[in-house]
Amino acid sequence: MTKRIPLRSSKKLKEIATRYYRDLDSAAKDPNQKMAWCSSVGPAEILLAMGFKVYYPENHTAMIGASRLANEYIPVSIAQGYSPEICSYLTSDIGAFLKKETPLTKAYGISEVPNPDVLVFNTNQCRDVQDWFKWYALKLDVPIVGIHSPSFIDELSRSHIDSVVEQMKDMIIKLEQITNQSMDKSELAKRVRISFECSQTWQQVLETAATIPSPLTFFDGCIHMLPAVVLRGEQIAVDYYELLREELDERIDEGIAAVPDEKYRIYWEGMPIWGKLRDLSEQFSELKTCVVASTYCSSWIFTDFGASSNDPLVGMAKAYTELFINRSESSKEEYLKKKLEEFKIDGIIFHNARTCPNNSNTSYGMPKRIEDQTNIPNLVIDADLNDLNVYSEEQTKTNIEAFIEQLSGI
Ligand code: SF4
Repeated sequence: MTKRIPLRSSKKLKEIATRYYRDLDSAAKDPNQKMAWCSSVGPAEILLAMGFKVYYPENHTAMIGASRLANEYIPVSIAQGYSPEICSYLTSDIGAFLKKETPLTKAYGISEVPNPDVLVFNTNQCRDVQDWFKWYALKLDVPIVGIHSPSFIDELSRSHIDSVVEQMKDMIIKLEQITNQSMDKSELAKRVRISFECSQTWQQVLETAATIPSPLTFFDGCIHMLPAVVLRGEQIAVDYYELLREELDERIDEGIAAVPDEKYRIYWEGMPIWGKLRDLSEQFSELKTCVVASTYCSSWIFTDFGASSNDPLVGMAKAYTELFINRSESSKEEYLKKKLEEFKIDGIIFHNARTCPNNSNTSYGMPKRIEDQTNIPNLVIDADLNDLNVYSEEQTKTNIEAFIEQLSGI
C-alpha cells in the first residue's frame, strides 16, 4: 500500500491548536475578558483589535464532522424545526450544543464551548451563518451584529467596498458599546497587517503543491489551514506557516512527494467531506494520485488585506467581499481555469455537498463548461461536509477508481 507521508510540522500544529482552545477556555472563565463568536470569514481583525478573544463555530463544527459525530447531533436540530437539507455545520453545531457535548472535551479536555458576549457574522459566504448565529443570540440572549455583503459579484466596485466599509464602521460602534472602549485604530492596522502576512505565508505553503511531485496534499491542507482560520491576525499563525513552508521547501529540494510515485494530479472543488478525509486520502494515495489543490483551502488567502495603506477597513472590505464563494459564475470559472494551469491538473473532483449549495458548483453547468474549455475531465461526488447519511462509501470509492483509470487512458 502507498502511504501518504505525514508532515513533521503537525506536532507544532497540535500544540498551537491546544493552546488556542485552552486559552479560549481560560478566557471564558475570566469575567473581565470579552468573547466574540465570529463566522469563519468574518471581520476577525476588528474583534482582535478591540481585545475580544475570538471563537469560530465553523471550526468547532468541522471538528464534529471530522470526529464523525454529526449524525448524532443533526436529528436534535431537526427536532427544533431545522430542515435536514440546510447547512449541516449549523445542524451539527446546534445539536451538539443542545446535547451539551463538544469534541473539544476529547481533544483538549474542555467541557463546553466558551460563552459569547457578542456574535459576529458576515453573509459573504451564505445566509446560513446568520441563521445559525441568530439561534444562539436568542438562546443565550446575546447581541448579534453582522455585515450583509453584496453577493454574486463579477467585478468588485467602489460602491461594493464602500457599502461594506460603512457596515464595518457601524459594527465598530456597536462593539464599542459592548466593550465600553474605543477601538484603537493603530491596533486594527497591526492586526490587518498580521492577517495579510498570514495570508501570504499560507499562500506560499499552498503554492508549493505546484511542484511535481507535490510535497503537500489537499488533505494536509484541510488540517494545516487551522491557523489561517482561527489565528489570522495573530503572529503565531505567520510563524507557523513560515515553519511549514520551510519543511515543504526541504521536501521539494529532496524530491520528497506527499504521495510517493505521484502519477496524477487532482483539483478538489467544494467543501471537504470531514468524516472521510483519512479514507479518501488513503484511497488517492493507493491510486498514486495527489489531490494537490483546492478552492476550499485557498479561501483563506486574502490578497487584498494590503489594498489600502491609509485605511485598513478598505483592505478588509475588499478581502472579505471578493471571496470565491461570493463571486459570479464567470469569475469562479476564470479563477478555476487559472488554478488548473498553475497546479498542472489532470482531473477535477467537484464535491456536490448536499447541505451546502453555496459552496457546491455543480448545479448550473460549471463542470461541463470547464471541461469543454480545458479538456480536463471531472468527476462529481455527491456527499456532504458533515452529514454522512448522504454519503455512499462504496459508490464514491468505485467512482474515484473509475475516474483515475480514465485518466490513465488519456
Ligand atoms: S458556506 Fe456552506 S458550510 Fe459554510 S456555513 Fe454556509 S452553508 Fe454552511
